[in-house]
Amino acid sequence: MQLIDQYLRKVNYLRVSVTDRCDLRCVYCMKEKMQFLTRKDILTLEEIERLCDNFIELGVEKIRLTGGEPLVRNDIIKLIEKLNNKKEKTNLKEITLTTNGTLLKKYAKLLKLNGINRINVSLDTINPEKYNKITRFGNIEKVFDGINEALDNNIKIKINTVVIKDFNENEIEELINWTSNKKIDLTFIEVMPMEETDISREYQFVSLSDTFSKLDKIYSFSKIDYSTGGPARFYTSDLVSNKIGFISPLTNNFCASCNRVRISSTGKLFMCLGQNDFVDFREIMRKDYSDDYIKEKIKFALNIKPKQHDFMIGEKINKYMKRHMNVTGG
Ligand code: SAM
Ligand code: SF4
Repeated sequence: MQLIDQYLRKVNYLRVSVTDRCDLRCVYCMKEKMQFLTRKDILTLEEIERLCDNFIELGVEKIRLTGGEPLVRNDIIKLIEKLNNKKEKTNLKEITLTTNGTLLKKYAKLLKLNGINRINVSLDTINPEKYNKITRFGNIEKVFDGINEALDNNIKIKINTVVIKDFNENEIEELINWTSNKKIDLTFIEVMPMEETDISREYQFVSLSDTFSKLDKIYSFSKIDYSTGGPARFYTSDLVSNKIGFISPLTNNFCASCNRVRISSTGKLFMCLGQNDFVDFREIMRKDYSDDYIKEKIKFALNIKPKQHDFMIGEKINKYMKRHMNVTGG
């Protein structure tokens, strides 16, 4: 079984936001004061599992858990254990997660035991004061400890860094060297206009196409045919031991090869991160519709998956999505 959308893209990758809550408040992701959802609003673990089952039956092979911070969700390991058990009996091949890393010291061993072999850790700076500032109150030592614990447990890590104007633009080479020394891959991401935060997006946005051109003069990058199943374009250089990726939704659109859809913590299926349309599965599940009906709705949603995102950042245009990143997950 395969899920094919109206533009003939094969969709085999599901991202699930398991909570909108987080132990940090990154300035480009959230406002300082956030109104979080109540428990009844978000999907139960059973509801998440049921939705995943239906997607797997329809051809999803890879599931990424995200949030908010997925590791702050109660009983997250139980969900991962259940999903991991499906790998033997279904087409599901990989479960992974995107995390801020603060709770990895506690969870890395359990993650590995439950089949997580690869994770993305988000880290925008390696400077403790800057980290504290960008996350509004975070302690970077927790992340360093978490990364070491994950590596000790043979979990492969990729660092995700959002490049932010006047914040980490001058730290890019340092980040490349730091990850290269640790032999960890690194991906840079452009700021996307997901709902308003306290700072205007045009004061945060850096064009990764420009960043790439500057870096290329130093590193003489060679493009490689490597993919983690996501939109990053990867490069190597004789000067580093790792792979460097660039995700540039605004300056280098990659929608033609999009293979994913996203479930929000409230059960809304977003066919595109950069569009506002969704299909609400929470109501469908809570009204006791059958799995066949759920699958029909998933197919319907795939039929209306848009051709491309609608992101725009500029002096006059700031087209925001009507939800913060922590709702749909990155
Ligand atoms: N809390 C986890 C973390 O930070 O890895 C998972 C959720 S977080 C929303 C997922 C990713 O989205 C992170 O790498 C984060 O840096 C990124 N992100 C958040 N807001 C963003 C924005 N407006 N534009 C681009 N990336 C963003
Ligand atoms: Fe939390 Fe991740 Fe958003 Fe930062 S980017 S506030 S860690 S959800």
